[in-house]
Amino acid sequence: MARAGTGADPPNCSSFSSGLSVLDLFEAPPNYAPRSAWQRECSSCGACCAAPDIAALEKPLGVACVHLGEGCRCQIYSSRPQVCRNYQPDWVCGEVAPLPSLEARVKRFLEIYDLESDL
Ligand code: SF4
Ligand code: SF4
Repeated sequence: MARAGTGADPPNCSSFSSGLSVLDLFEAPPNYAPRSAWQRECSSCGACCAAPDIAALEKPLGVACVHLGEGCRCQIYSSRPQVCRNYQPDWVCGEVAPLPSLEARVKRFLEIYDLESDL
């Protein structure tokens, strides 16, 4: 599975909002419209390996990790850094994974976290 998270911040995307700690991982945070509830497992869409910046990998925002390979699979899965190991699928997966291209998934991922202007 291809998973990753941000570098300086806690790697689990669900932790970006303080209110999320009390929510189900797949429940959208307050002030968000209901999300795609069917997404429960990582489907290796690659978005979290391409959208966030990952300090441990010196990966910039919005740029696919150099280790992201064919089929959005991690090419160093057995030795991937801890930040990637800690990452867990959450409600954001339901937003991004169904989209038809990695580019579209990255765009939506950054949009959700209001990071588009940081590119
Ligand atoms: S965004 Fe979610 S579904 Fe896509 S690779 Fe990451 S954990 Fe898996
Ligand atoms: S090392 Fe692997 S799991 Fe981590 S961001 Fe790169 S491709 Fe994704």
